[in-house]
Amino acid sequence: MKAELITIGDELLIGQTVDTNASWIGEQLNQLGIDVSQISSIRDDRQHILDSLELTSSRSQLVILTGGLGPTNDDITKKTLCEYFNSTLILNEDVLEKITAYFQSRDLEMLEVNKDQAMLPNNCAILDNSRGTASGMWFEKNEVIVISLPGVPYEMKGIFSDVIIPKLKEKNLVSNVLNKTIKTQGIGESFLAEIIKDWEHELIENGLKLAYLPSPGIVKLRITAFGNRENELRNLIEKYVLKLLALIPDYIYGYDKDKLEQVVGELLSKKNASLSLAESCTGGNLAHMITSVSGSSSYFKGSIVAYSNTVKTDFLSVDSQLLIKHGAVSKQVVEQMAIGANLRFGTDYSIATSGVAGPNGGTEDKPVGTVWIAIAADEKVYSKKLTLGDNRERNILISSLSALNLLRLKLLE
Ligand code: ATP
Ligand code: MG
Repeated sequence: MKAELITIGDELLIGQTVDTNASWIGEQLNQLGIDVSQISSIRDDRQHILDSLELTSSRSQLVILTGGLGPTNDDITKKTLCEYFNSTLILNEDVLEKITAYFQSRDLEMLEVNKDQAMLPNNCAILDNSRGTASGMWFEKNEVIVISLPGVPYEMKGIFSDVIIPKLKEKNLVSNVLNKTIKTQGIGESFLAEIIKDWEHELIENGLKLAYLPSPGIVKLRITAFGNRENELRNLIEKYVLKLLALIPDYIYGYDKDKLEQVVGELLSKKNASLSLAESCTGGNLAHMITSVSGSSSYFKGSIVAYSNTVKTDFLSVDSQLLIKHGAVSKQVVEQMAIGANLRFGTDYSIATSGVAGPNGGTEDKPVGTVWIAIAADEKVYSKKLTLGDNRERNILISSLSALNLLRLKLLE
């Protein structure tokens, strides 16, 4: 089933109001297995509304409008719908009663224009608005459903959830939509796409959909399945998740609501192992991420934010000669920081970070975005160099996530 959305209101076109109604409805319809093929925003203008109705009804089976149902003169959607559907307005006693009660409960005087909101088209189903005074309307003509909803997001969402979803279900117009999100760290979107292209191709051939959802340091892959056999779909998704896991085991850290810091915490707990940090360029961000997980006190001991060289030498026993020879942003120094943290805190594992977060401070051999991370475990230490961009916030975030993923891999060894 194809759907289109029309959001009506001058305020949408002059940038005064962001069209959150369209994105919200789009998400809802997607969850119901209904394809949205176009979203249009138009003025509170009779001809534009008529033209849009004409066009969308000619190619979609479901058209949802929001906005312009209010009591003021600029709200002309109802009037125009009546013209389009050849309706006459009749007084709806139930709605009038509700509007009256609504004003009484707020101790407000009821005006004639408010009463007019109970005047509704004779040839549509009235959709109860329990949060305001403008009713929704459900028209059907030539196999096309046209639904009109108020523009106020709170009211629109209320009618959509309370009335429209049940009605669409009742009419068997929705299908199951199952989603599974696979979370990866440490590989960019385009490299990932290249590695998994055969897998992706097969997945699509089997009727599933794939979306790449990148954010700094993380690329999420969302698999979507539509249909009515829920168990079959679930198994199909799981089959592809397992195949993907075999393809990119090092990058996948979790699914759906999993967070990397929480996944690492669980692995530490399972091993009964403790963790400490020595943070230079992440400046405490790693400690913040780790302690945002409830129960982290059982494995996390603490962090030294070793920003200056003296803190690196005095608190983490980094050899000052190494600092002079290689600089703070180096494999040698970050490895000593990690070992130093384990000694200082008496922990089993530690993470250290040192880098040029930017946007200033780079040199020719260590440009902005050069970051070293290290993991120390017992006597062993592992390190890795990252080459990031010049956005400070992103660099801090990506360094933190990369370090957590490196620790995750070490914990799994
Ligand atoms: P009401 O019955 O409250 O008058 P209405 O149907 O007339 O509702 P509008 O007058 O168009 O709705 O808009 C009411 C409020 O809702 C405005 O503040 C407007 O900014 C907001 N709004 C309207 N359309 C949208 C939209 N598409 N996305 C987000 N907000 C919207
Ligand atoms: Mg409006």
